[in-house]
Amino acid sequence: MKTLAIILLIAFATAATPPPPPAARTAAYLEAIRRDGDPTRLTEFLDAMPKGGDLHHHLSGAVYAESYINYAAEDGDCFDATFTIVPPPCDPAQGRSPATRAQTDYGYRNLTIDALSARNFAPTTGDTSILVHFFKTFFKFDLVVNKHWGEELAEVVHRAAIQHEIYLETILGVDKGAAIELGSKLAWNDNFDTMRAALDAAGMPHVVAQARRDLDAGERDMRSILHCEGPTPDPGCGVTLRYQHFVLRAFPKAQAFAQMQAGFEIADADPRVVSINPVQPQEDYIPLKDFELQLRMFAYFHKLYPKIHLSMHAGELFLGVAPPEDMHDVAHIRDTIDVGHAERIGHGLDVLSEPDPQGLLAEMARKHILVEDPIFIHELIGPGVVGGDVLPIYLAAHVPVSLATDDEGGARSDLTQTFRRAVEGYHISYPTLKTMVRDSLQHAFVSGADLWAGPEAFTAMTGACADQPAADVPALAACRKFLATSEKATLEWREEAAFARFESRFKM
Ligand SMILES: [Zn+2]
Repeated sequence: MKTLAIILLIAFATAATPPPPPAARTAAYLEAIRRDGDPTRLTEFLDAMPKGGDLHHHLSGAVYAESYINYAAEDGDCFDATFTIVPPPCDPAQGRSPATRAQTDYGYRNLTIDALSARNFAPTTGDTSILVHFFKTFFKFDLVVNKHWGEELAEVVHRAAIQHEIYLETILGVDKGAAIELGSKLAWNDNFDTMRAALDAAGMPHVVAQARRDLDAGERDMRSILHCEGPTPDPGCGVTLRYQHFVLRAFPKAQAFAQMQAGFEIADADPRVVSINPVQPQEDYIPLKDFELQLRMFAYFHKLYPKIHLSMHAGELFLGVAPPEDMHDVAHIRDTIDVGHAERIGHGLDVLSEPDPQGLLAEMARKHILVEDPIFIHELIGPGVVGGDVLPIYLAAHVPVSLATDDEGGARSDLTQTFRRAVEGYHISYPTLKTMVRDSLQHAFVSGADLWAGPEAFTAMTGACADQPAADVPALAACRKFLATSEKATLEWREEAAFARFESRFKM
């Protein structure tokens, strides 16, 4: 009798234990893969995982060298002896080979690809640093970048879609360099109002109008290449695409100001352009010298255009590329947030070198400042951080992070590879990966109210959609009505449905 009671008790206890929810089963599956060191299952898992948005993505750095070779060949251009694309006439005797040679001569092709990317980098006289080599690649393909937007956009949204990304913010010079030209004709004036008026009088409205037409043309070409209007559209057509206008911060102050003004005026006129972002090596002469001045310019334009979001490169210094004083005496990340009004920062590598790093991390967590972390490229070209990315530091401090590619073409990588580095290099668990994916959409500069009840609070959805089970279309009419009003919430809902489908695969 006693034995029967025990058996019944065990049976009852077993029956009463609910099966683990799909998210927990998925997390356990990833841990099992990690324990077994199974690269095949890890690849399958990360390939299929929904990845939200890539928030730090340079269009010209994302395009692979093979595409640049094709553009140069199409345009009749040549490669010089340093593999820089130069205009015709080509003359092999003078070291100017037709670009078509990189399509037909296998050895030459591979040397070209290495020169246009960080692949196979080996120090040689005059090319001693992978970091400098990498930044120099941008000059090598500069001639063709702005002539092929449609093809470039088609390449990157297709790549995003097949990796299960649904959102992309790509950084480019939306004005194709016109503002730099404008700024070069004006003398600097310390009065920002006077500068702005002079630039408007010199033709800034034309720069803005032309940039919008160029974006229209680029998107039209992209959609045509991807057959977005046809019966079998490429999956890339489903990726929501937004742009950030870059400011080349190594330019003198009048040109930096002009680029910033162009960016804010374009973003004000065109909702596709969502941020203005300073780029180029932070350790270069002008970016360090004019750091505070450029932030004051950002603050000036922010006051004029307070609704325009800002994500900025910040904290890209590490010991070895910059003197210690430039890292310790200037609060690059803190000032970018406090003075420049950045809502997100890219890289954030030197957080521990800033004055009061703990205070800074606490401030970032409190203000919900997201860090866009391109781990793969940090490890590739940041000698100070090999095997030691800042990802665990930010996560431990509860600062939101999203994984990003930065320059997947130059680095010969993609977002899946970046996820893989997070798992293999930093033992990031499935729940943390999923949080970073949700962060990427919550912190995306796409319009509309948020699906979630609070920042980084991914346990409760907002009013109308609360307690709604994940499905392609919400069952409740009020939730459907809410989603129709918000592009951001729609993306977030779409991602939750994708997570439900993904997690239903794992039965263990
Ligand atoms: Zn970047």
